[in-house]
Amino acid sequence: CNSSFATAAATGSKPLHLKYKDPKQPVGARIKDLVKRMTLEEKIGQMVQIDLTVASSDVMKNYYLGSVLSGGGSVPSPKASAAAWVNTVNGLQKGALSTRLGIPMIYGIDAVHGHNNVYNATIFPHNVGLGVTRDPQLIKKIGAATAKEVRATGIPYAFAPCIAVCRDPRWGRCYESYSEDHTIVQKMTEIIPGLQGDLPANSRKGVPFVDNGGTKVAACAKHYMGDGGTTKGINENNTVISMNGLMSIHMPAYLNSISKGVATIMVSYSSWNGKKMHANRELVTGFLKDKLKFRGFVISDWQGIDRITSPPHANYSSSITAGVGAGIDMIMVAYNYTELINDMIYQVKNRIIPVSRIDDAVKRILRVKFVMGLFEKPLADLSMVNELGKQEHRDLAREAVRKSLVLLKNGKSADKPLLPLPKRAAKILVAGSHADNLGNQCGGWTITWQGQTGNDLTSGTTILKAVKSAVAPSTQVVYSEQPDASFVKSSKFSYAIVVVGEPPYAETQGDSLNLTIPAAGLSTINNVCGSIKCVVVLISGRPLVIEPYLAKIDALVAAWLPGTEGQGVTDVLFGDYGFTGKLARNWFRSVSQLPMNVGDAHYDPLFPFGFGLTTEPIKS
Ligand code: BGC
Repeated sequence: CNSSFATAAATGSKPLHLKYKDPKQPVGARIKDLVKRMTLEEKIGQMVQIDLTVASSDVMKNYYLGSVLSGGGSVPSPKASAAAWVNTVNGLQKGALSTRLGIPMIYGIDAVHGHNNVYNATIFPHNVGLGVTRDPQLIKKIGAATAKEVRATGIPYAFAPCIAVCRDPRWGRCYESYSEDHTIVQKMTEIIPGLQGDLPANSRKGVPFVDNGGTKVAACAKHYMGDGGTTKGINENNTVISMNGLMSIHMPAYLNSISKGVATIMVSYSSWNGKKMHANRELVTGFLKDKLKFRGFVISDWQGIDRITSPPHANYSSSITAGVGAGIDMIMVAYNYTELINDMIYQVKNRIIPVSRIDDAVKRILRVKFVMGLFEKPLADLSMVNELGKQEHRDLAREAVRKSLVLLKNGKSADKPLLPLPKRAAKILVAGSHADNLGNQCGGWTITWQGQTGNDLTSGTTILKAVKSAVAPSTQVVYSEQPDASFVKSSKFSYAIVVVGEPPYAETQGDSLNLTIPAAGLSTINNVCGSIKCVVVLISGRPLVIEPYLAKIDALVAAWLPGTEGQGVTDVLFGDYGFTGKLARNWFRSVSQLPMNVGDAHYDPLFPFGFGLTTEPIKS
């Protein structure tokens, strides 16, 4: 401890007796010193992450727990303010700090399109839209804005980005994927330096890096590996592919993530050729840790250890052996932490799990906590609360929406384009289930896990509201969610904007074999298009069956899941900006073609990968 005494003497402050508490010591030395002092119970506690709903300051203290998460939208209270979040997180942190060694916990949350569990946060487009932009600098800014909003609530860790390469749109998580093409997903890993900060030039590849200035968060590349390649897009299912295929399609974005210093990686529920990823020692330890030299921590998915067996939790003890043995460092146990902890203690004492494996896990977790400065500043203050949902971030989201739109059809013939729409018209119709519905516009993973339909989930601008503020004051805007055909015909509208699509969903609940637009949306298309000029704006997490209706539709825009800033859509519809987006997925004709990707022998899409019409902005 000589150097810390010397520093203390020079500054006149209290001597730092414990090496691990001394920020002047190298991280490696601090880790070594701390691990040496830890009991088995303290070590195992570090490896456990519980859900907010079962967390309390006493639980943190009594079990030496290393982490807490808000899973599936568990929040301190409905519509909790940023200050209320800070208070909750700090309360749990105080429990962790009151332990013998005072090791801070790390709080994690799914901030997958902005800080999406939190009321009033900026909700960015889901990844399926961001992939269209092919704009790494934009994505990096989104990462930085998201990090600030997450930090505003006292949280230092986001379970993002999802770097799945979704090969089949039937998958309920396709919208969490930037593209079916791994090169686009690789580019989009630029969100990692946005979230975590830029890696200093002299950093060693594979070492986790998070700028400890307090405005950045630890990121989590997920779900390792092959999550987007399961058979028929069935969530958590089996990915049948050769080693070569796995390495050339699903792995490359992990290389980019690691070289950008990603702090953590989450394991996938899915299997690779029949072997659960949560039990795959070859890929988690052998490849990720040994070959790629990833030195951050590997986290399980939510009850991912339980799901090693089917039905889940059938043989929990051996699943723990397999999961921890595979190389999982932090276990997102969610609820039943005592069963996990007791079993792990038993297994280590009986040499079923080697202590060396526990030490490896703990060192990795502590490394992330040290590099983040959590030992120096474990408690959040209120200095960031105004970052939540601030205008600058909403403007950025609006820009992202503009760039994420893909114009698939514009006019019944090329010389008669419908878009951009005139702002000055006598009377226009806005129709459809998604025209005035913020929840539908945001999709899943918004406020709640599955998302929720309607307008009161959070603050933002619906497309209807955006249309009303975009058109000339003299233009009458008539809104009808589901107009009937005779009303449409008799009312002499100049044109109609029809906004329809999928309801919100997340994960398995979103798996779909038919990929159809729900019936209400189809009847709106049928009742409106054909009798008056119409642009259909499709709000969906993936391409849907559209070919049978295409002849009726004058103009078609894929808007994906744009989030809270609906003006991004009208900015482009009315020509303040041009359409620039190009499909980052191909658009199938019929589900019988699926799976279908570029290069397949049967590749015959309705709109190919890379397709997108453009318009020129109107000069005012
Ligand atoms: C999802 C993860 C997510 C976790 C925590 C799981 O169901 O697969 O992507 O990070 O829940 O909410």
